[in-house]
Amino acid sequence: MAKRDYYEVLGVSKGAGEDEIKKSYRTLAKKYHPDVSTEPDAEAKFKEVQEAYDILSDKTKRAQYDQFGHQAFDGTAGFGGAGGFGGFGQGDFDFGDIFSAFFGGGSRSAASERNRPRKGSDIQRRMSITFEESIFGKKEKAKIPVYDECHVCHGLGAESKSDIKACSQCHGTGTIVVESQTLFGRTQTRRTCPTCHGTGKEITKKCHNCNGEGVERVTKEIEIKVPEGIETGQQIRLEGFGNKGSNGGPNGDLYIVFEVKESETFIRQGDDIIINIPITFAQAALGTEIEVPTVYGKVLLKIPSGTQSDSKFRIKGKGAPNVRSKVKGDQHVIVTVVTPTKLNSEQKRLFERLVKVEDPPKTNTSFWSKIKNSFKM
Ligand SMILES: [Zn+2]
Ligand SMILES: [Zn+2]
Repeated sequence: MAKRDYYEVLGVSKGAGEDEIKKSYRTLAKKYHPDVSTEPDAEAKFKEVQEAYDILSDKTKRAQYDQFGHQAFDGTAGFGGAGGFGGFGQGDFDFGDIFSAFFGGGSRSAASERNRPRKGSDIQRRMSITFEESIFGKKEKAKIPVYDECHVCHGLGAESKSDIKACSQCHGTGTIVVESQTLFGRTQTRRTCPTCHGTGKEITKKCHNCNGEGVERVTKEIEIKVPEGIETGQQIRLEGFGNKGSNGGPNGDLYIVFEVKESETFIRQGDDIIINIPITFAQAALGTEIEVPTVYGKVLLKIPSGTQSDSKFRIKGKGAPNVRSKVKGDQHVIVTVVTPTKLNSEQKRLFERLVKVEDPPKTNTSFWSKIKNSFKM
């Protein structure tokens, strides 16, 4: 079965804002929640909605989806970097979590919610590369600041294991019962324990290095492989190189977004490269062979006699490699016939002689009708 468009799944437009996406997601998640829904294929629908929301609620993933569609996440895009474009965390999906979010507390205790493994957050960095580097790729070591496990307490947050006790307010459950008087009588509600914030634990002596956070800021040296053919705005994902996960959860990912500097010689257009080469009157009239720079080195190009200004010539296979297929585009050479602005006496003499013997160009009537149309006369 073909995968449905995520925007279509959530019933929102491509330009939908965060709030609109969230609102639609909530409505649909309630409608299809397998514990409450009577729809026949509620679970499949619910998963579909959840998946669409996972992508569209995440700025980075949404941008990838807008650019590459479902391919961005099915692992086949195959960008050169470590891990490439991978899938997203299906495994993170948790019914209990969503249930309590919508229906005011499920059956699980707050402490088990709080202490379940969580994926670390993603990091995004921009990397500026030259035009040549974008064609040939390169490897570069970059220093990236990340949150990693505290090397003193190894994520414990306490000086030692004996410095962690069950929370005195909630006795380790992570929740407290609050009684309140309402229009309908006395009610009891469970709230997250304010002392331990739901962890059920209390640290009596915090780790001196991380102040109880369990993580510390470190700078990691990471080798970044710039894929051949990458373009401005495209990115690679380095799985697991983001911030540290908590409670044994996986690390976040590192996204490198590339910015390609403009070249003085070449312009990239898709997988093709365009270059402009000036030639003289005489070269255009008589024909010649010129040396044309390509990113792969100089190439001889035959200019036939009678070449007009702005003529295009194609040099096959000398364009940019496609970032996915690695198939190279072509180089297009646009030749401009340049009118000389300064003539030495010898050149002047030759032009004067030429003007006496050459036939003046004929006025082209269809040319005049084009001019007329463009002025709407
Ligand atoms: Zn520590
Ligand atoms: Zn507590």
